[in-house]
Amino acid sequence: MAELKTVGRFAPTPSGRMHLGNVFAALIAWLSVRSKGGEMVLRMEDLDTQRTSEEYAQILREDLRWLGLDYDRETPPQSARSAVYDRYFDKLAQMGLLYPCYCTRSQLHSVNAPHLSDGTYVYPGTCRNLTEAQRATFHRAPAWRVRVPDRVWTVKDRVQGHYECNLATDCGDMVVRRADGVYVYQLAVTVDDGEAGVTEVVRGMDLLSSAPRQMYLQELLDFPHPAYAHVPMLLAPDGRRLSKRDKDLDLGQLRARVTPERLIGTLAFSAGLIERNEPVSARELAGEFRWDKLRRESIFLNFEQLI
Ligand code: GLU
Repeated sequence: MAELKTVGRFAPTPSGRMHLGNVFAALIAWLSVRSKGGEMVLRMEDLDTQRTSEEYAQILREDLRWLGLDYDRETPPQSARSAVYDRYFDKLAQMGLLYPCYCTRSQLHSVNAPHLSDGTYVYPGTCRNLTEAQRATFHRAPAWRVRVPDRVWTVKDRVQGHYECNLATDCGDMVVRRADGVYVYQLAVTVDDGEAGVTEVVRGMDLLSSAPRQMYLQELLDFPHPAYAHVPMLLAPDGRRLSKRDKDLDLGQLRARVTPERLIGTLAFSAGLIERNEPVSARELAGEFRWDKLRRESIFLNFEQLI
């Protein structure tokens, strides 16, 4: 059988400039695809229309160009796809897996709900078995949740190894559409990756716990599972995680100070991909990219070289 063509993706949220962590995840996603002669897809994740804008989307495209991380096609942004998500939502409804949830934010975050270390909670199933008469007593629009099975999912992650999760005990029934009608990230990503034919998902380690949620939705919606690789987080020398708040390390600032080759060289060296910290282009790295060279632990970045 002919081997399936590799299709990877960039899925940035256009809510600000890329910071070094975003650049790193994008670089590895691109290297993996290009080293196999695959196809790269760009998609703007702008479900949160309050925080995102086309202006930032335009800057992101220009930042990717500056980095030398090209892509073959861009699929429509999530904000334009609610009619598509409606179809998949209907499919889940027809399977009898959805139910309306009237819980308020404060109820969900109450002391009774067990909190996991990452700040999320396990939904205790409060609205799971409400009768029609009970539902009629709430005079407000509900969120919609999908029932999750009591079953262990194993993510065979190329960087992190095996990651196990039982959605019933680690997450609870998941919201797929919010009370204001906006679809949630997990559903949108599953549909978008599935429709674009994505075969590998490479992104930051902070999204590892999303993988089993997306695998469950893929199974329900008849999409094949992609391969997963969750790359380590970049940390400041004091152990702090880099984020959009680190303005001096976003591309707006960095582009004024360093060349793309210097930036990529520093990231590649810190990640274990090259032996010396020297300028290199993404294109030059693609020829010798190998997953087994990539560090698995968090990467402490020495920014002095970049400031
Ligand atoms: N949009 C997410 C972000 O910018 C990435 C989601 C994904 O890769 O699945 O962090």
